[in-house]
Amino acid sequence: MPGGIVGVRMSQQGLRTIVLEDAPAKDSEWKIVVIGKDKTELLDVNFLAGKGVYEKSDLLSERFGKKAGCITIGPAGENLLFASGIACSDPHGVCSRYAGRGGLGAVMGSKRIIAMVILDDGEERPQYADKQAFQEASKRIVTLLKENPVSTKFTKYGTAAMVDICQALKVLPTRNFTSGTMEGAEKINAQTMHDTIKERGGEGRTQHACMNPCAIQCSNVYPDQDGKLLCSPIEYETMALMGSNLCLKNLDTIAKMNRIANDAGVDTLDCGAAIGLAMEVGLAEFGDGEAAITMMEEILNVTPLGRILGSGVKIAAKVLGVRHVPHVLGQAIPAYEPRGTKGMAVTYLSSPKGADHTFGFTLRDEEDPITKEGKVALSKKFQLIGFKNGRNGDV
Ligand code: SF4
Repeated sequence: MPGGIVGVRMSQQGLRTIVLEDAPAKDSEWKIVVIGKDKTELLDVNFLAGKGVYEKSDLLSERFGKKAGCITIGPAGENLLFASGIACSDPHGVCSRYAGRGGLGAVMGSKRIIAMVILDDGEERPQYADKQAFQEASKRIVTLLKENPVSTKFTKYGTAAMVDICQALKVLPTRNFTSGTMEGAEKINAQTMHDTIKERGGEGRTQHACMNPCAIQCSNVYPDQDGKLLCSPIEYETMALMGSNLCLKNLDTIAKMNRIANDAGVDTLDCGAAIGLAMEVGLAEFGDGEAAITMMEEILNVTPLGRILGSGVKIAAKVLGVRHVPHVLGQAIPAYEPRGTKGMAVTYLSSPKGADHTFGFTLRDEEDPITKEGKVALSKKFQLIGFKNGRNGDV
């Protein structure tokens, strides 16, 4: 589960997983699943079909309250586009926390489920084996996080801190993965984002928690020029795939593209990579922000070009006739250029999900990322850490 409140609401209802079995006829009514204390309902919601995720999110909050945990899909999921994700609600009732990768939105769409709502009336609480020991360990972990220079950097700057790190390591995807550095990368780095948010004020926030309680608070709220919420959050992966990979050096452009992606219900990585292909074949120039925003609007409006770009890099490459395609098993390569980090390259190649940086995040332990020696063992080590902890091997 990505950030946001859905995971908490599920556990309060005593749920660890929701399984949707089978699929109805492809033209059957759109439904939502509502789960509350002692009830599970299927409700007709044809009126939600075709609307963007932000509007759906408002309508669901209006009906079920901002404290309900909502999972919804956008027009991309309804139209079964491969790059579609599912959006989960944050503590303010806005569905902008994405399980973006792997086409989950299309899976929900294929079952004609437009949203799942987990009500705020669950009463299940975790049973402590040893409450005192748990609380002491929690305090120790929080203290360590507040003293650790890496986690405090993420508190101040969020994952955007990776822009400078990846630029220095020459693994910042640039110009459709043909380079690992971008001249002018500082225009979209963490410091620029931090200063822009602080200067604009208003609804903008650095050090924002996507769920409570969180000791790191790496999230952000990026405001427009008038201080109104433009997009929350903007993460490093998006800054790379929708920024440097397209040679875009303007945070407002990236924020607008991210917002449209959230509204359409698509993964920012797969769509950023697909737009990179479109720029490679000359549908727009690298660095043309207006064209990139227009392409995102095509995806939101599910136009013919939007369907192609929203279907992910592998399909987009076949339709557009591109041979240089950054993908593994059809999933776009994430924001760590694999020629510059052989450990991440092994992780991408060995993940059954395709190119997935969370499967075994080796980069922070690679003394010399460019060399091959020992990288299979390193990737395996991080993958096993992930399996043992019951989650992915990233931080
Ligand atoms: S560290 Fe905290 S704010 Fe950042 S994604 Fe995780 S839960 Fe959300």
